[in-house]
Amino acid sequence: MIIMKFGGTSVGNASQIKKVHDIVSSQRSRNPLVVVSALSGITHHLTDLCSGMTDYNIAEFQERHLTVLHELGLSKDLLNEEFQELTQLLQGIHLLQECSLRTKDRILSFGERCSAKIIGNYFTSSLYVPSYDLGLKTNSNFGHATPLKESYQDIQKAVLSYKDKIIVTTGFIAKDPEGNITTLGRGGSDYSASLFGAALHATEIQIWTDVSGIMTTDPRMVPDAKPIREMSFEEASELAYYGAKVIHPATMLPAMEKNIPVRILNTNDPSHPGTTVYKHTPKTQGTVKAIAHRNGLIVINITSTRMLDQYGFLARIFEIFSRHKTSVDMVSTSEVSVSLTIDNEQHLSSIVSELETFSEVSVEKHQSIMSVVGEGLRQDHTVPARIFSILSQHEIPVRMVSLGASKINLSFLLKESQTKNALTVLHKEFFQC
Ligand code: ADP
Ligand code: ASP
Ligand code: MG
Repeated sequence: MIIMKFGGTSVGNASQIKKVHDIVSSQRSRNPLVVVSALSGITHHLTDLCSGMTDYNIAEFQERHLTVLHELGLSKDLLNEEFQELTQLLQGIHLLQECSLRTKDRILSFGERCSAKIIGNYFTSSLYVPSYDLGLKTNSNFGHATPLKESYQDIQKAVLSYKDKIIVTTGFIAKDPEGNITTLGRGGSDYSASLFGAALHATEIQIWTDVSGIMTTDPRMVPDAKPIREMSFEEASELAYYGAKVIHPATMLPAMEKNIPVRILNTNDPSHPGTTVYKHTPKTQGTVKAIAHRNGLIVINITSTRMLDQYGFLARIFEIFSRHKTSVDMVSTSEVSVSLTIDNEQHLSSIVSELETFSEVSVEKHQSIMSVVGEGLRQDHTVPARIFSILSQHEIPVRMVSLGASKINLSFLLKESQTKNALTVLHKEFFQC
């Protein structure tokens, strides 16, 4: 069995869905399980509906799906139930003027439920089954739910009962043990694919998207970025964690656990080999594999003379972040100060108030974390010097540095406004000489 996951842009309209059909048909003999995302832009639109940023009606949502149904020659009534339920939910949040995280997940689920139903009905000899009916369960952490291990057995049993059909299922969504719909976090369909792959001992997990694999850097920032033929699980995980949007950061974990290769492929260029991610460490293609970046970081500087020679000081700081369920990305310390970064503002003011009871605190927003990744960094000790000399030649100041934590990546912080410039010069240094 193989898993074939198609992202939003791969199923964005009828002509893309026809391409998906051809790709799946060509691999029919490998017994595919198809995982799909919502039509491109739909999850974003549903998020706006939840926050009241758009009128609380489903006209746009409906229109987009009806057009696809029409162009694929499917019944215009196929999604009536979904449209009706979504309308009722939106009326509810409009009346109450509030939308809990639980309700939001239920609303977001309609993106994947509608696209998977369309595709499952369009393909011949296929069947639409939502991921929660295939046994995918998570805890109740709405918006960012964690899969439960017991899902694996349930998935195996459920999939067996649909022998001889190509199952088309929903990425991104699942249910908690109480039967509430949950989501795995934005971009989470890749993770769903990998969870299904691990549960079913798939021989390969294919992630079909709109680029020909993981590239040397974000192609929207540096048009010269090139696809990478192969990389290790660790390299792909680091790149995803540090912002390479092409794969969700948790995707590699289930695949690594069962040692299943993950291939990133292009729906618009299916014969391109794309990127294969697997266990062994490829010794090809130089020291640095790729450069990732993530914008929107916030630096918090904490200074206190009480830190001098004190044990337990860092524990006290981290306890505050942990209580506010805010994870810290990067840390650097000196004798009397600590700087650390977080990537969301939700609890920022409470965190700062608590820190201010025992230290001086300053906050800098609009920072970017950049990460240079490659297995070769383990041996090649010239890379840090090359990075910082090129940045200094271009007068790009670096705010914080992290080296050695994973051995295959060097990360640093800079101002968001410098990101494009830094990516361009570093990409040139490592990939275009
Ligand atoms: P999908 O809808 O298929 O899940 P995404 O939009 O989530 O697709 O991810 C694909 C996009 O990721 C690409 O179009 C590209 O712009 C962006 N991207 C960012 N960094 C990288 C990278 N290093 N390699 C490839 N694509 C990247
Ligand atoms: N549709 C969801 C999102 O846009 C999940 C995904 O595309 O992977 O975040
Ligand atoms: Mg994606």
